[in-house]
Order: sequence, then structure tokens, then C-alpha cells
Amino acid sequence: MKKDNKIKFKGDKEGYCNICGKYSQLTRDHIPPQGCVKPTLVELRTLTQYISESSKNPKVSQSGLNILSICGNCNNNLLGTEYDPELIEVCKKVAGVVRIQRELGLSLPEKIPLSIKPQRLIRSVIGHILAGKLPITGKLPISALFPDALRNYFLDQSSNIPDKLEIYYWVYPSNKQSVINSLAIGSGLGEGFISGSSLLKFFPLAFWVVWDKPTSFPISFTKIPKDKVKDLDETCQIMIDLRHVPRLDYPEVPSEGRYIMYHEDSTFLAQPKKPKGFG
Ligand SMILES: [Zn+2]
Repeated sequence: MKKDNKIKFKGDKEGYCNICGKYSQLTRDHIPPQGCVKPTLVELRTLTQYISESSKNPKVSQSGLNILSICGNCNNNLLGTEYDPELIEVCKKVAGVVRIQRELGLSLPEKIPLSIKPQRLIRSVIGHILAGKLPITGKLPISALFPDALRNYFLDQSSNIPDKLEIYYWVYPSNKQSVINSLAIGSGLGEGFISGSSLLKFFPLAFWVVWDKPTSFPISFTKIPKDKVKDLDETCQIMIDLRHVPRLDYPEVPSEGRYIMYHEDSTFLAQPKKPKGFG
């Protein structure tokens, strides 16, 4: 139990913004944005608590997964105004199809095409990933190749998606939400090592942002195309594969022959709390 108390779920009211690095009042980022999933009563766990099932008394949040981590400008003017509307739109469209498939059992085509604005969609995903950890009191965000690339890309609207960055996505039919800011995955099978990646998962999609993936490391999901995309409002077509759906805890719970490394305090998993006396 003692170990659980060390993990902070509540942050400071002011500090250095996780995205732009400016010192200011910190605002709550809802992950995912409220237009995607209605915030409800949830239990919060870290990845270790989730994997080990060690937390018998998880922290509870009344309004979903939200983290005091970014300044008002990054939260409202950039994420909320410029980028979230595209993520919300895409999620609404995919959610509609996934619900029809699951609830009515209608047989749908294996894949459905969807038109997206990748520059806005990817910045929304990256913004919430960067917001998905508590700032360290009195310290600027950690500077390293992968997080710096994410921040610079997010903040510079004229920049293109970095060469070494790939964004994989798949259908995620679960009401659990998770954000894992930094996840390294290695393999004892000679597949190489992913030193930097981030995860954002909520109904109906999961996004895995991967930095500098070795070609030997297999990821069998589709990537958001980026080669021909430049302008913010340029569109491209992606395919939503309704049948190729991995287990719900892929890839953060490693399969045989793989191992993971992460910072415990930058992993947040939220699960809707069941009403008392139910299950
Ligand atoms: Zn900021």
C-alpha cells in the first residue's frame, strides 16, 4: 500500500507547461478531449498497478482522466481550438461504425475509408500525450530527442511530421482510457528495440506514436500517411480496419519474448467505476 501512495495523481496549480515549457498557471487537460468521451467517475491506476493488480484502493476521479499539466494557451488556443475538433470528428465517425458492428451485429465491410486532416489529427494526439504526465515541480520538461521532436512539431504549425515519427492506429473497442507518455519496448527475439514511443487509447481508437522504429521490429497496424501532407488543412484518406483488432492491452502489456520500460509516474489508466453492489 505504501508504494501506491508515492504515485501522484494530483499536480501543482502552477508550473512549467509540459508542451511549451512556459511557467504559468496550469490547466487540466481532459484525456481524451470531452467531445470524444463523456467524462465520468473513473478509477485511476498506473501501468504497474494495472499489470500487477496490486492496487486495491485505486484513486478515483469524478470527471474522467484529467491532468493539471499544460498552460491555458496550449490547452485552449492550440489543442482545444486548432487540433481537437479534428480528433473529435474522426472519433465520432469511427465510433458510429464500431457501435453498429458490435451492438447490432451487422456485417460491415472489413475496412472503411475515412478522410482526415493528418496535421491537425496528429497534433491533437501528440498534445494529449505530452499533457499525459504531471510536470515535475520547479523543473522544465525533460529534454531528449523524442519528446523535443513531439513538442517542436506540435508548436510549429508550419513544420512537417518528423521523418522518424510514425503514428500507428487501430480500433480499440473498450471503455478504458490510457495515456502512456513514454514507453520503450525491447525484444529478446532479435527484433530490435523501440527506445521512444507513446500511447493514447480510448474508445474507439488507439494511437501508438513511435520514434525511430527499427525495420526489424514488427508492428502489423496501419500508419497515418505523412509523405505528401504539408498544409494544416490538407486531407488524406486512411482505412479503418474493423477486423484486425489486437488484444486490448496491446502493446503496453508485453507478449512473450518482449519487455517494456517506462516511467511509472507518466502512465495513467482510467476505468469507469462500477456502481456499488454491481459486480
Ligand atoms: Zn504551454
